[in-house]
Amino acid sequence: MNAKNLFLDGTKPELEEVLENRERRVSFVQELLRRYPQDAVISLKCNIPGPIKNNEGIQLLFDYGRIKLLQILAENRWNIEYEKCLKLPTGPEGFWVIPKESLLVKQKMIEFEEQRLGRLFDADVLDQKEGMIRSRSRVELGYPPRRCLICDNDAKICASRRLHPVSTLQKQLIQLLEENMAELEAVHLQKKQQCQQ
Ligand SMILES: [Zn+2]
Repeated sequence: MNAKNLFLDGTKPELEEVLENRERRVSFVQELLRRYPQDAVISLKCNIPGPIKNNEGIQLLFDYGRIKLLQILAENRWNIEYEKCLKLPTGPEGFWVIPKESLLVKQKMIEFEEQRLGRLFDADVLDQKEGMIRSRSRVELGYPPRRCLICDNDAKICASRRLHPVSTLQKQLIQLLEENMAELEAVHLQKKQQCQQ
């Protein structure tokens, strides 16, 4: 993987496509929680700044996250009831249904998100209570909001106000990948089983 090439080429979805995909993702999670009403759903995505949302490098990054996530599930001896990975123009996505209490799962996903490369992922955890879908939050577990990679403030505020130019965010991501390339490649070499499609 050459981090420098990460933003040269790839799929550039229109805003409409991104919004439609978000709707599809919500419906899919609802469907999963109808089928597995007692379980927690993990929804994994990469956090990629700029218009390019998928290419070979982004898929490799996603694979890293997927393998790390599988390691966490294995360490905790948590079963996977269901698993699906999608290779979409809007970016790679993965879904795992885990028969465990959602806050317990969220705790482990926060620990993953706090790792150096974990910062490049969103690992959302959802469940359902009385037919309502809940996205478990960091605040419920006493964690501060996620911090921005550039200025260390609340990442949501920086993103919504577009406080940093896309080029700065991309440069920061490339630097982070380059600093952690050994870790990335070591994890890829483990050649964990492919995600079921
Ligand atoms: Zn910031």
